[in-house]
Amino acid sequence: MAKIFVLGEVTSSEVNKATLECCSEAKRAGATEVHAVLFGKGGESAAASAGKAGATQVHYVEEAGYNLAQRAATAASLVEAQKPALVLVPATTHGKELAGTLAARFQSAYASECLEIRLGDDGKPVALRPMYSGKVRARVKLNGDGPAVASLRPNVVAVDADGGDAPVASVALSGEAGTVKLTDSSAKAAASGEVELSEASIVVSGGRGLKDPSNFHLIDELAKALGGAVGASRMVVDAGWKEHRYQVGQTGRVVTPDLYVAVGISGAIQHLVGMQNSGCIVAINNNPEAPIFKVADYGIVDDLFEVVPKLTEKLKA
Ligand code: FAD
Repeated sequence: MAKIFVLGEVTSSEVNKATLECCSEAKRAGATEVHAVLFGKGGESAAASAGKAGATQVHYVEEAGYNLAQRAATAASLVEAQKPALVLVPATTHGKELAGTLAARFQSAYASECLEIRLGDDGKPVALRPMYSGKVRARVKLNGDGPAVASLRPNVVAVDADGGDAPVASVALSGEAGTVKLTDSSAKAAASGEVELSEASIVVSGGRGLKDPSNFHLIDELAKALGGAVGASRMVVDAGWKEHRYQVGQTGRVVTPDLYVAVGISGAIQHLVGMQNSGCIVAINNNPEAPIFKVADYGIVDDLFEVVPKLTEKLKA
C-alpha cells in the first residue's frame, strides 16, 4: 500500500493550484492513497475538492494565521501516525520552509524543486530535479527509513480533474506558536490583491532598463492588464526599487509561469536560471545583442518606454 502525503493550502473558496498539482502528481507517482493535509482559514467546505485532483483523504486544519512551527508540528504528528513513503509539498514560500523543517525533523532524504515524482518498484520515491542552476536534470532516489520529503515546482505538472470529492477529517492545529517572529510576505501580497509570484501563470518582470523606480508603474500596469504577477531583476532589488520577494533568479525566486515577460532585463545567467523554464518568454529590450533574446520565444527590439504603454493600452482594450 503506497501512501503519499501532500501538505498544502486552501482558501475559503478553493484549494491552491500548486497543492492540486501535488495531489495529481502523487496519484501519477503510483500512490494508492493520497492524503492531502490542507491548512487554511474558513476553507473546510472547499477542501473536499482536492479529491478531484487525486486526493483520497483530506485532513483539514483550521488556523488563525500562518505559523510554521504549528504547521510542522501538526503535519509531523499526522505523518508519523500514517508512515507514508513520501511527503510532497508545493515549492511555494510556505511550502519550502515546511518541507525543509520536516525533513530536518524526520532526518530524512529531501529533494527540492522537483519536476516529476514516481515511486520505484521498491516503493522508494524517485524524483526528477534540476541541478547546478538548471544545467542538468538528475533522477534522484530518496533512500532511508523515514518518510522522504520532496517539494514540487509550481506550474510544471498538470492538474487532473477526474476524481470526486474526498472525505474530509477536521484536525486541530497542534504545537506551540514558537518565539520566531514571522513576516508573511505572501499574506501581504494577497492583502494588496497581488498575484503570488512563485505560483503565477503570468509574470511580468522589470530590470534596470526602466532607469528609475518611478517608472516601475509601467511593469505594474502591464502585469495588471495581463492578470499576472510582478517580478524584478536583482539590480532593481539591490537598488531598493522593489522588495526582495519580487526578485527572480539564482538568489531570488524560481518561477515557471506559462508566460514570462522580461522588460529592460539583460538576461544574465543568474536571472535566466530563475525563469528559463517558463512556457513562453517574451523579451523587450533595445539592445538586439542582449542575452535575454537567446532564451526568448518572442523578442521586441525597441525602447520599452514606447512599447510597454502601447502594449498595456491594447491589452486593456
Ligand atoms: P542590466 O544588466 O543593467 O540590464 C538592463 C537592460 O535593459 C540592458 O539589456 C539594456 O539593453 C536594457 N535597456 C536599457 N534601456 C532600455 C530601454 N529604454 N528600452 C529597452 N531596454 C532597455 N540577477 C537577477 O536578476 N536575479 C538573481 O537572482 C541574481 N543573483 C545573482 C547572484 C550572484 C552570485 C551574482 C554574482 C549576480 C546575481 N544577479 C542576479 C545579478 C546578475 O548578474 C545581473 O547583474 C542582473 O540580473 C542584471 O539586472 P538587469 O538585467 O536588470 O540590469
